[in-house]
Formats: sequence, C-alpha cells, structure tokens
Amino acid sequence: MSLKRRMIAAGFSLFRAAGLHRLARGAFSGRGVILTFHRVRPAEDEAFAPNALLEITPEFFDAALARVRASGLQIVTLDEALRRLVSGEGAAFAVLTFDDGFRDVAEHALPVLQRHRAPFMTYIAPGLVSRAARLWWVELEEALRRLDRVELGGRVFSARDAREKAVAFDRIYWTLRAQGEQALRDGVAVLRDRAEIDSVALADQLCLDWDGLKRLAGCELASFGAHSMTHPRLRQIPEDLARAEMAESRRVLEAGLGRACPHFAYPVGDPTSAGPREFALAAELGFSSAVTTRPGMIFPEHAACLHALPRVSVNGLWQNLDFFDILLSGAPFALWNRGRRVNTA
Ligand SMILES: [Zn+2]
Repeated sequence: MSLKRRMIAAGFSLFRAAGLHRLARGAFSGRGVILTFHRVRPAEDEAFAPNALLEITPEFFDAALARVRASGLQIVTLDEALRRLVSGEGAAFAVLTFDDGFRDVAEHALPVLQRHRAPFMTYIAPGLVSRAARLWWVELEEALRRLDRVELGGRVFSARDAREKAVAFDRIYWTLRAQGEQALRDGVAVLRDRAEIDSVALADQLCLDWDGLKRLAGCELASFGAHSMTHPRLRQIPEDLARAEMAESRRVLEAGLGRACPHFAYPVGDPTSAGPREFALAAELGFSSAVTTRPGMIFPEHAACLHALPRVSVNGLWQNLDFFDILLSGAPFALWNRGRRVNTA
C-alpha cells in the first residue's frame, strides 16, 4: 500500500474511532451531496489494476445506496436537487452521477438502481459513443499490462510484474498529466502503438454505443448530461476549442437522444482541468449546472455557483461502508477544504 493510501486509511480509522463524523453530522453535511461513480462491475482478480479507484462492485453499490437512504438523504434527480438548493426547501439530498457512459453501468448498475428506484445522471462524451475519442487512461493501463519494458521521453521503466507496472503507471501518468493535452495524448499514443492496442476497439469494448445509450434512456430513472466531445482537460486547451467541445457535446447528445441535456460535467474535473474560465463558459453556454471532481458537499452558498459544483467520488479503493458513512458526513471535506465550503478558484 502506498504512503498516501496508508495515510488516508489512518485518517479514516481515526475518524471512526473518535466518532468525529457523528459529532460533526449536520455541521459539515450541508444541503446534500452529488456522488460520482464511473464503472460498476464484479471484482476481478487482477494484481495490476491502476484504474481500480474508478470502479466498484455491484454488491458495494447496492449496499452504498441503502446506506445513503439510511443516513437520511433522499436520492433525487439533479434537477430536483438544484431546485431544493436554490429554493432552500426540501430534505437533504443525494444525487447519483456516472461519468463516461461505460457499458457496465447499463449491465451492472442499472439493475441495482431499479431495485432501489433511484434516479441517476450519466454524463456522456459523444466522441466516446462514436469511438472518435480515446480512453487514454485505460490505454495506458492496457499498454503497461502488455509491455514489460516502457520507454517514454528518454526514460526507461521496467514493467515485468504487477508491482513494477504499478510504479511505472504512476510515474508516467503523473508526468503526462503535468503536460498539455496534446502532449499527454501523444505520449499515451506512443505506448499504445508499441503495445498494439486499438483505441477504437477499446472504446467499443468499454463504452455504450448509441443503441445502448438509447436503451438506457428508456429507463425512466435515467437522465443524461454532456461531458465534452473528446474528453479533454478543458483548462489545458484554447478557449475557443473548450467552448466548442462543451457546446457541441450538448448539441450532439440532445440530437442523439431526442431530449434536453442541460447539465455538464467537466472531464477529469480537478482544478488543473476545470477552473474559472470553464465555469464562466458553462454559464455563458446556458448549461443549468456543471459539476467538477473537486471534493465536497453541497452547501446553500453553492446556489450562487451552479457551474462549479463539487462532488464526492465513491472510490473503488475504499469499498467499506464505515468509510462511506464518514464521507457522507462531509467531515473529511471540511478538513480537506480547510473549512471553506465553496472553492471556485
Ligand atoms: Zn469522464
């Protein structure tokens, strides 16, 4: 376990032992929470799984939804949550959001959602639906799975076993994340080609196509939001390009599904991927709301910044209901954000 993971585990244990999150309940939980999910599928016995944080099992998803309700939160649509946020009326809420439109959401999450009668939002990048966009973070994983030695930018990484592959993934991922969008994509493409990975086939294997999306849209619990065309870190690309990515994704999604999709999620969504310029763009383009991946609960103050909403990611590395309870209390984010309820810088 990495040092960072050990520190997070120690933090969780301290919270649990002291019952801090119970004392804090109410003080830090705000009006509600927008939860982020990516993939839901049965656990795989895979020693090298660097994207495991982005997936949870159907069993944990099921238990987590029960826990959300047991904690007194009402699971509502994003529209209803925003209505409550702006009006100040109604009970505390939880909104369930899925990013990227993975096939396993329809296969494994949907039955659970239906059993719980839980509405949910799926943010779609139409480029992934048409296979024109790339799941570069999965390509990087797959390349390292296949190669036992990787060379990038003059550096050589040994990747003979799961441990070495994990170290190499971490180093390469964060090196590329520190670079511009094109450099990141080009860097992953070098490894992808060396490992003979087909980007289109990979997206086809993992992401819903238009038929699959339309089937999902047939479920009355489902809503859809835009997530850019090609899933770039918008803050890393020129403004006119970012504006076009955002506007076009909504237009194509609405045309494809034949319904309004007025909500947006910033790809990647951390402060290096979405900042004040992107928040202003989302407002300018007339989106009703836009969510980040900045961690935090929703407070009354967020009614004034609907295009920079925080979310709480349900992390696959921490599939533990006690930890989940602590997240729902909002207490860790009060610490993380050093008491600031709103972070739009
Ligand atoms: Zn995404």
